[in-house]
Amino acid sequence: MAEITCARCGRRAEPLDSPPLVGARGQVVQQQICPACWQEWVEQSKNIINHYGIEVADPRQRQQLYAVMAEFLSIKF
Ligand SMILES: [Zn+2]
Repeated sequence: MAEITCARCGRRAEPLDSPPLVGARGQVVQQQICPACWQEWVEQSKNIINHYGIEVADPRQRQQLYAVMAEFLSIKF
């Protein structure tokens, strides 16, 4: 795949090898977010999940996490 320009840090980079999430969100992230920024989100999300006690198996709480993710990564789903 061609290089992408990261929506968060503005750097050009090789995209993630595969979409990091299922469905359309994964496509958006793969096409707009560089691996380094994605890794930052993965680390950050662990803190958020722990801090707020988010239950990712709960669809409603997962939606809330996606909203925080979109803000963190400067993308829209
Ligand atoms: Zn980036």
